[in-house]
Amino acid sequence: VRAFVEPHGAREALSVRDYRNQPHRADKAARPSNAKLPHETVVQYFVPSYSLYPVLADIHGTTKKPIRLHEDFGLPSVAELRRGEGWDFKAALTFVTTPNAPSGRGYSRADLEALCRAQQGVVVLDEAYVDFAPENSLELALKYPHVLVARTFSKAYSLCFQRVGYFVGHPELISALDKIRDSYNVNGLGQAAALATLDDLPYYRANFRKIIAVRDELTRQLAGLGFQVFPSHTNFILARPPRFSAKDWLQRLRERKVLVRWFDHAGVRDYLRITIGKADEAEALLRAVKRIL
Ligand SMILES: *Cc1c(COP(=O)(O)O)cnc(C)c1O
Repeated sequence: VRAFVEPHGAREALSVRDYRNQPHRADKAARPSNAKLPHETVVQYFVPSYSLYPVLADIHGTTKKPIRLHEDFGLPSVAELRRGEGWDFKAALTFVTTPNAPSGRGYSRADLEALCRAQQGVVVLDEAYVDFAPENSLELALKYPHVLVARTFSKAYSLCFQRVGYFVGHPELISALDKIRDSYNVNGLGQAAALATLDDLPYYRANFRKIIAVRDELTRQLAGLGFQVFPSHTNFILARPPRFSAKDWLQRLRERKVLVRWFDHAGVRDYLRITIGKADEAEALLRAVKRIL
């Protein structure tokens, strides 16, 4: 966001404010969220997707443009985006979480390519979960000078405490990122851990296969118990539970020491997000579900 998007002005005003006499609980400064603002201030992303995009946009004082995915978390086509309202084909920055979180849905390279071709600003394809998907879109970052693919060691490679990730894309975009990079952005332990991880890729790839097998089996079993489960390309599934509300299920599973996620957000309130663990953990979940039913 800092590399590619201009703040819309409200932020500069903050930096020259006299802070001495402000109330302790200042109301959030009203932002002209729907005003027509120049494309260079716009950060655009689909919802639901990764919750950090709006946070980063707010930190930098940019215009947020959240655009709803389809009800089933499918990606709207370019034609639909043209017909609909709100989508900005000239947005300075567009984020696409692919595969999507929290739904687990994967998007095809062809659909993503059509979207990238229609955008004038920078497009970041956030592939945090791509190791659990049947295809990735790395070649789009190599083919189009305005497309970046973002990857992380935090998920599939289990290094979530080390904060190591990378971008692939045109040298000009990478050098823009390099300009705003902290001098000490990845610490030494993180670098050592990432290098050790890269030395042991067969171990991780075997893990991806195990997780995918447990995911697909759990999906089948839950569907057999009346859950509506979206086909997942990630290491979690999104499932609409039967009989009780999702919020109820969260509590009932918790009482049986099974922890899942429930998000009180539009579009996902009726679902549980279930992380895929080991086979015996999936079995424990299924036992708990059967007892609850
Ligand atoms: C976890 C995650 C990231 C980034 O994780 P880091 O730990 O900051 O590298 C990015 N995008 C999505 C969708 C994620 O889930």
